[in-house]
Amino acid sequence: MKRVSLLCAAAATFLAGTALAQETFPNQPITMLVPFAAGGPTDTVARLVAEPMGKVLGQQIVIQNVAGAGGTLAAGQVAKASPDGYTILMHHIGMSTAPTLYRNLEYNPVDAFETLGLVTNVPMTLIARKDFEPNTLQELVDYVKANKDEVVYANAGIGAASHLCGMLFMNAIDTAVTTVPYKGTGPAMTDILAGEVDFMCDQSTNTTGQIKGGEVKVYAVTTPARLGNLPDVPTTAEAGLPDFQVGVWHGLYAPKGTDPATVEKINAALQTALKDVTVIERFADLGTAPVAAEEATSAAHRDYLAAQIALWKPIIEKAGVFAD
Ligand code: ASP
Repeated sequence: MKRVSLLCAAAATFLAGTALAQETFPNQPITMLVPFAAGGPTDTVARLVAEPMGKVLGQQIVIQNVAGAGGTLAAGQVAKASPDGYTILMHHIGMSTAPTLYRNLEYNPVDAFETLGLVTNVPMTLIARKDFEPNTLQELVDYVKANKDEVVYANAGIGAASHLCGMLFMNAIDTAVTTVPYKGTGPAMTDILAGEVDFMCDQSTNTTGQIKGGEVKVYAVTTPARLGNLPDVPTTAEAGLPDFQVGVWHGLYAPKGTDPATVEKINAALQTALKDVTVIERFADLGTAPVAAEEATSAAHRDYLAAQIALWKPIIEKAGVFAD
């Protein structure tokens, strides 16, 4: 009897503590993991929204880059983190491709996370080092086919959007080339600029400045319509590869089991950040825009994640690219 009442008291204390933790959340800085290297496009998106989100929450959001294994390292770390709202993850389309790409993925994206809301959908651009021979997408296709043993494609590892985009391109032209994985396309861009690697497909959030500055060659954008800030760059459909299209959606996650009130607080901060003028302007400079408010909800994000996993599964299985 005594033992039962002690247990009840302990449970009551625990519940009261949990309720208090929710009420006072956040009372310390929040860590937002970015699954790729600093200076790349996912990092850029994370830093842009983290600042206004932190202001709404009254606590700083500290960015931590945990790069490796095409984004699955950071995702695995957040899946195992304490579900208290203090460790969250900014990820992208890779969250939906990894379950098919990785045979031994240690987390199931749908079961392991609370979805905190979609953030943005970023077009990709197919670019190359400035002095790479081909000048148009058609020339690139011909060149890659003729020199497949020499050309080198940069990406951020299996599971990265740059990997997916490269895979779609190689499939579309039925030609495989050597790929070099980086910890993110920030460092990959450094090597493209240095002429160390030949070409790459990456989010416009990492390439717009270099394209505008003439520091890299650009062949196409992977969206159905041209981009307002890069009006001279053709779409892949216009340039002759209509089936080669992909956009990189980003979303925020917390470990499964995070209290709904905490999820709601973080989501409200995200919603505010996506209406922030600086965020909207900076996103526009980089060729993107915040998602609409109804897409930035936890429920819409959850549905979208499940739909994207289903969408990419057969495409990846057909391409036959897998990792352990
Ligand atoms: N753009 C990278 C990718 O290929 C990731 C990054 O560096 O942000 O997924």
